[in-house]
Amino acid sequence: MNTELFKITDENRETQAAVSAIERAGKILKSGGLVAFPTETVYGLGGDALNPQSSRKIYAAKGRPSDNPLIVHICRWEDLAAIVKEIPGAAEKLGRAFWPGPLTMIFEKSELIPAETTGGLATVAVRMPEDKTALALIQAAGGYVAAPSANISGRPSPTLAKYVREDLGGRIDMILDGGPSCIGLESTIVDLTEGAPTILRPGCITKEMLSKVLGEVETDRGLSETEGGEAPKAPGMKYRHYAPKAELTIITGEEEAVVKRINGLLEAAMKKGLRGGVIATDATKDRYRAASVKSAGDRANEEEPARELYRILREFDEEEMDVIYSEAFAESGIGQAVMNRLLKAAGHRLEKV
Ligand code: AMP
Ligand code: MG
Repeated sequence: MNTELFKITDENRETQAAVSAIERAGKILKSGGLVAFPTETVYGLGGDALNPQSSRKIYAAKGRPSDNPLIVHICRWEDLAAIVKEIPGAAEKLGRAFWPGPLTMIFEKSELIPAETTGGLATVAVRMPEDKTALALIQAAGGYVAAPSANISGRPSPTLAKYVREDLGGRIDMILDGGPSCIGLESTIVDLTEGAPTILRPGCITKEMLSKVLGEVETDRGLSETEGGEAPKAPGMKYRHYAPKAELTIITGEEEAVVKRINGLLEAAMKKGLRGGVIATDATKDRYRAASVKSAGDRANEEEPARELYRILREFDEEEMDVIYSEAFAESGIGQAVMNRLLKAAGHRLEKV
């Protein structure tokens, strides 16, 4: 299959070429094809959410386990009612506060949503993204676009169109390139179907932000378990996503101790003939003796590691590192989501010094 690539930026958005590319992409989705598109979180792989064949194609293209449900993307609040059984008061409050934006809410699904889209669940995950290209595409496609992250299952979510092409080129009809994703990590998922609102996946919209709107908010206990504990409620969170080819270990502690420990580990690895990489910060990147050192940005600004993490993991895969050591990042704001993804990528290997 030939995969068309079209770039849409704020500069060309209004041009005839861009408008007709969106129309073309919308038609592809309406006729059961697949289009990858930018969102503010990561790139999504879109199909018609109301068409069971499209959802099957999404699972096949990604190699995604079919019990891992897809998020349905909408572009107008009015379109929500048709795909859910009821809209709880909490959802109205969250919608007003955070939509369009990086928040996904779980509802009881209506008959309109096929079981293929929700991995057989009676609930459906819904998000209204903020990215202009995403919104235009959803509208052109008829209003309901099922879209997981546009990567091969088990690889880091793509934050650039070139990573989508690497993973899915030749397997899907079209890729809309909107430049680098501005957040870089997947949306926060909140379940509103059982008891107190519960975070199933941490993201850019933090527990504190949700609590300001709703009062009490819980975090899924399955998220903090490592192995053998309670299963996470979002089926996707049980898989070891984001797994780099190299063995990744996180080292946490005072900066001086961390730098010393990582340099010690690098030296030991080198003696064994292993190639070592480091995920550092701007302040420490020049202090490591490694085959490859990558800075995730300014430690004081946790939005930077969020934006850079998946790119760095993909680059280390390309460079064929054997071992990677990462500094730990602040857990304030989106930092909690950064550490959630980093710990998963590390298979929960964390050393305190
Ligand atoms: P992705 O779109 O690749 O970020 O993955 C979607 C995430 O949303 C996965 O972790 C899914 O398990 C989760 N998800 C989607 N629908 C539901 C649902 N109905 N209930 C719980 N989690 C869901
Ligand atoms: Mg994903």
